[in-house]
Amino acid sequence: MDAMQRIAVFGATGSIGASALDVIARHPDRYQVTVLAAGRQVDALLALCRQHRPAHAVIADESQYPALKAGLAAAGLTTQAHAGMAALDALAQSDACDTVVAAIVGAAGLSSTLAAARAGKRLLLANKESLVLAGELLMAEVARSGSVLVPIDSEHNAIFQCLPDGRCNGQVEKIILTASGGPFRGYGRAQLAGITPEQAIAHPKWSMGPKISVDSATLMNKGLEVIEAHHLFGLPGTQIDVLVHPQSLVHSLVNFRDGSTLAQLGLPDMRTTLAVGLAWPQRITSGVAGLDLVAQGGRLDFEPPDTQTFPALTLAYAALAAGGTAPAYLNALNEEAVSAFLQRRIAFLDIPALVEAGLAALPTTAADSLEVLLEADQAARRYAHNAINRLDS
Ligand code: NAD
Ligand code: MG
Repeated sequence: MDAMQRIAVFGATGSIGASALDVIARHPDRYQVTVLAAGRQVDALLALCRQHRPAHAVIADESQYPALKAGLAAAGLTTQAHAGMAALDALAQSDACDTVVAAIVGAAGLSSTLAAARAGKRLLLANKESLVLAGELLMAEVARSGSVLVPIDSEHNAIFQCLPDGRCNGQVEKIILTASGGPFRGYGRAQLAGITPEQAIAHPKWSMGPKISVDSATLMNKGLEVIEAHHLFGLPGTQIDVLVHPQSLVHSLVNFRDGSTLAQLGLPDMRTTLAVGLAWPQRITSGVAGLDLVAQGGRLDFEPPDTQTFPALTLAYAALAAGGTAPAYLNALNEEAVSAFLQRRIAFLDIPALVEAGLAALPTTAADSLEVLLEADQAARRYAHNAINRLDS
């Protein structure tokens, strides 16, 4: 019997956080939640603390610290309260945990993800933005520390499962990422003009947080995933394809050079990928039923992505090819544009337009340090704020 794994869940109050905690709670003999962290939803975090009784709870928004501390005391818990992003980094590196579930949304997750990698923790990486922003640095930390990194994004988790040791090692011709196509598959540009946030976040197959749901609707999510796959598996963009598969049952495919194609299939439920991350190379129950293809309609459809209507995918390939600071710009421009769209400040079609204009305006330079990447991230956010203010006036 393995020793009890102590787990930190960063982004515990989100969609991935909930799936992770669901799987963990099914295996009290193997896993113990020792750290729970959230952005600013202190009541939701307190509810999770009452349920999982972690040693530490972190609220990133420092103004919520008194509420967290008072809430833990009122619940009679011995959980220690912390606030601020620095507390996340410190706990990621501390011996409070062996495993970190990196499920914060956006570039805000980079610092704690890097800290966990540096400390050699087992890393269940859902926070794809940290790979897009600083993939080389993150993968270098993982290699240096010997950290076990399991991708949680369903496509990358599928590829990880198809590769004997999680790496391509010259055996792979192509990686094929599947995409549901999002809620607007089959739409033309004219139909996208008046799309509301409610329509954009109503994903047909997956239940996810608002940011990634909008990214799925623009296909930027798949673009971010192409860059993510490049870093995780060491292939250039020319060897990473995207295939629309509306049923979302085939989670991705790998073409090996001998003509074999391997794919991983399953119901669209992130608890499977989290179970893989927690137990790999073992298999544990996740609460997800096995796939019955007949019950699922008996067919699997595939079509190429419509990059005319959804240019975000092309923009991401271009940013990957340009390299340097370009992926950091892409990610930050997109985060700001999506946030403005969710606040009804800009239109749906303004999202890819803003990213495209920003990539054209911001000079791509080499990016050999975290400082350069974080400065690029900030420069792109300044550009986006100005563009959003112009659109929203
Ligand atoms: P979500 O919006 O449901 O949850 C985000 C979590 O991050 C919340 O717990 C929130 O409190 C926390 N958070 C936000 N800002 C923070 C900050 N500044 N500091 C600390 N914590 C902060 O998002 P989600 O859908 O769970 O997605 C999380 C990540 O996983 C994203 O990077 C997303 O792309 C990736 N992902 C999600 C899914 C999915 O099915 N939901 C699938 C693949 C990848
Ligand atoms: Mg995905």
